Amino acid sequence: MINYLYIHIPFCIKKCIYCDFYSIPFTPPFPPLAKGRIGGVAGDYINALRKEIELRKGVADNLKAIFIGGGTPTILSEKDIAEILNAVRENYSINPDAEITIEANPRTITEEKAEGLLKSGINRISIGVQSLIDKELVFLGRSHNADDAVKAVRDVKGAGFRNTSVDLIYGIPRLKEQRAKGKGYIRNWEYSLQKALELNPEHISTYELTPEKNTPLYDDIKAGIITMPDEGVIAEMYYKGIDILKEQGYIHYEISNFARKHEYNGYECKHNLNYWNRGEYLGIGAGAHSFFQGIRMSNARDVIRYIKSIDDNKIPVAEETHITNDEALKEFIFLGMRKIEGIDISQIPDEKRILISKAVEELSSHGLVEVKGNYLRLTRKGLILSNEVIVQVLLALEGLPPS
Ligand code: SF4
Repeated sequence: MINYLYIHIPFCIKKCIYCDFYSIPFTPPFPPLAKGRIGGVAGDYINALRKEIELRKGVADNLKAIFIGGGTPTILSEKDIAEILNAVRENYSINPDAEITIEANPRTITEEKAEGLLKSGINRISIGVQSLIDKELVFLGRSHNADDAVKAVRDVKGAGFRNTSVDLIYGIPRLKEQRAKGKGYIRNWEYSLQKALELNPEHISTYELTPEKNTPLYDDIKAGIITMPDEGVIAEMYYKGIDILKEQGYIHYEISNFARKHEYNGYECKHNLNYWNRGEYLGIGAGAHSFFQGIRMSNARDVIRYIKSIDDNKIPVAEETHITNDEALKEFIFLGMRKIEGIDISQIPDEKRILISKAVEELSSHGLVEVKGNYLRLTRKGLILSNEVIVQVLLALEGLPPS
């Protein structure tokens, strides 16, 4: 039985310039702080979510983690979110220790709203702070400023949240006035990190700003309007982040993720760990992905199509891929090696382990991976090159020469 549930809310206040997720921008007046139910498409969407949860009854149970992601889930009122969680409770049992996370945009949080979210059963909140420099936030097209972000984190903590995560982005292009000075990138990144640390979140994620196709950021880079930092600067920022966060007592547990220690357990995100461990999960909502019984599947992304199909009592499955044993092994490697502890190679069949052994030796001789006991993992040097390193292991697995 599946123990992990993801619920997708595909609405945002407005589109950020770097975002290629499917989300529908809310045009003003957007209703993020409304206490009552949202009407219109969002209202229909919530009804559809509740119905899909019911239609999927029996697929998941004894939930250990529920993750409400987006988009911007907190664009919905606390009442809407409570109704979605009530539908979950009516159809699946929730483990008493379950981690129940919601993603939040700083513009959509107040202390009162955070209290409402806590009451609805949410016990972890992940806030998209991204930067604590106003000009960078404007550049990214975020709908909030640095003060909003600081206030949001203080508000959720003030409301009683004991597990708060902050997302930050590094690799943001230098602002015009800093270009001549040369050191703007690193200084800005350190500033945002230090400011975030002052808020004492239990968990911090640091993501590199990546120009994805079909985004305004990508188009502006292609047109020569924006110049991204070079690889050396990106690497310096990444390692600076690791060093600062480790110094402050955070455990680096995944390429981009850091968690404080906890008396019993760490504050690592259970939902994400399940994903990197190739655990099964059920995804509810437009565009939501699921993985169970060896099948990866996703729902239709278009909100209107999704609502219509659920109205007709049909789950709008858009894609379905049966994972072969070889594909499962590849997933085990490329997802598992994202974790700092790496992968347990004793779980790899002997004949496959022999196939990758030469590549591992070669990568190890360059200081990019190491084997400790049964575990193969990226070294500090290998972390920044994780994609390239993991590809070499996967090529070897297929009996192909290194690229
Ligand atoms: S708030 Fe998040 S999901 Fe929405 S547009 Fe910005 S980055 Fe994308």
